[in-house]
Amino acid sequence: MRRLDQLLANLGYCTRSEARDWIRGGRVTVGGKVTKDFGAKANPAEVRIDGEPPDHPDGLLLLLHKPVGLVCSHEEREGPNVYSLLPPRWRQRNPVITSVGRLDKDTSGLLLLTDQSELVHRLTSPKHKVPKVYRATLDSNLPAGLAELFAAGTLVLKGEEGPCAPAELRTLGPREAELTLTEGKYHQVRRMFASQGCEVLTLHRARFGHLELGDLPAGHWRELPLDTFAS
Ligand code: URA
Repeated sequence: MRRLDQLLANLGYCTRSEARDWIRGGRVTVGGKVTKDFGAKANPAEVRIDGEPPDHPDGLLLLLHKPVGLVCSHEEREGPNVYSLLPPRWRQRNPVITSVGRLDKDTSGLLLLTDQSELVHRLTSPKHKVPKVYRATLDSNLPAGLAELFAAGTLVLKGEEGPCAPAELRTLGPREAELTLTEGKYHQVRRMFASQGCEVLTLHRARFGHLELGDLPAGHWRELPLDTFAS
């Protein structure tokens, strides 16, 4: 049960004071009856706003095909962000929709977005070892022994205290590989290759856990059930 004015504001329809005007103006019904009591608590399932059910009152989980050129930060000064791809109302929600971990501005691929903070914690914690698969193209040939080095779990990146967790490298071509990580250190894929003298030219995340992009075009998203990762 949530206060009506809070429900409208938290779902991004309007500000809390505008919500009170909407409710006083008769735009909101509960159980089929207009209510002008903006402080009344109601079950979102019984609420209608301009005759429509509330927009995703239980939360959102989205699978986005992130294009190159957008950041995952909400900070405007960091440039255009992935949230600009979402409907304007969703960008006003509270709790805010945020990315599950981050992809660099120059990285494309599968990015989850959600307003479920518990899910963000669970999916980004190295403890849970969610596998993420990246495809990288490199500026030079893959050095010999790289798969063994990454698999050993002994590589310590500059500025890090502990080693990278064991990671699986699959060679796709002389300068192309797929790397599976179960953690998400800052710029980890680029730094792992750079530590061995290879610059990553393009980077794309193809999988997150059991999820893949399929034929979803870059810049597009689809909704996932909130219990997608329920175990
Ligand atoms: N590793 C990187 O270096 N960049 C990303 O965007 C994701 C993983």
